[in-house]
Amino acid sequence: MTRLYGKDELKEILDLTAEKNRLSHAIMFSGRKGSGRKTLARYTAKLFLCENNACGECPTCRNIDMNAHPDVIFVKETLGGKYEMKTLRELLKGTVIKPNNGDVKIYVFEDCDSMLTQHQNALLKLIEEPPAHLRFIFTCENVNLVPITVMSRVTLYEVPETDIESCVRCLVEDGTDESRARELAETFSGNIGECKSALSDDSIETRLLNTAKKAAAAASVKDGFGTAAALSETKDRAELSAVMGYFTRIFRDALAVKEGACADFADKRTSLAAAENYTEDELIFLLDRAFEINANEIYNLNPALTAAYFTAAFAEGKEGNNG
Ligand SMILES: [Zn+2]
Repeated sequence: MTRLYGKDELKEILDLTAEKNRLSHAIMFSGRKGSGRKTLARYTAKLFLCENNACGECPTCRNIDMNAHPDVIFVKETLGGKYEMKTLRELLKGTVIKPNNGDVKIYVFEDCDSMLTQHQNALLKLIEEPPAHLRFIFTCENVNLVPITVMSRVTLYEVPETDIESCVRCLVEDGTDESRARELAETFSGNIGECKSALSDDSIETRLLNTAKKAAAAASVKDGFGTAAALSETKDRAELSAVMGYFTRIFRDALAVKEGACADFADKRTSLAAAENYTEDELIFLLDRAFEINANEIYNLNPALTAAYFTAAFAEGKEGNNG
């Protein structure tokens, strides 16, 4: 199955039109960047080429998904991510060549509202009198930036934003954990593309996870200064909050070890070290302080101060428990 999240209505329209064999030879998907225009372009290419209603599973569909179908040409990507007259003209020469496999050959022009006028004119020539074997799919964000001469020759479909629930489902099925998926979906108002790029922007996520591991590793050997230093690496409260989230996971695992429960370790070595170096009460005290920082608005301090508070609290807890 081809997954189109939150696009049921549009999918149904496309399916019915395809069923009647009436898909336009030139289709425009307009919508916000990240709203799923490219996915819809792919889906439409499948409707044109798959023999089983865009099944998503046959070799044709799979090749389309992998950008490997010889008769589905993503022009911008083929040109290295940028429209340039010389290379575009060169590529368009290929339009006279008959399809490799099926009856039609599909050219996908993404972001055609960002093309220069001369590029758009080259397109116009092509769609004015296209050879019978050609199909065109365009995407744009702003139809007002596409010449009316082009717009008058395409069938326009507006791509709606995905609703939050569908966006969450999409991210979860892609392996994101539910709470993170929901957080992203809400942050980006259901825009799957923006959620995914935030996820793939591993630099942030990975950096925060590493900061948490560093802080937890220091805390696990009762190195208060190291803990504070690591926590101070966070740039704002949101980052600190994320780091504390990972941190508490590592220490919850330590507590689980202490209690003989099984843990699905986020950082096994650190959790084992913490279990070794702390008493159960100390771990609970430490976890309480960590939860407190995340939950309590009173501690709406900057990261450095919060880190200092946390370290002081945990030194205090240590003393309280040890002496
Ligand atoms: Zn198929």
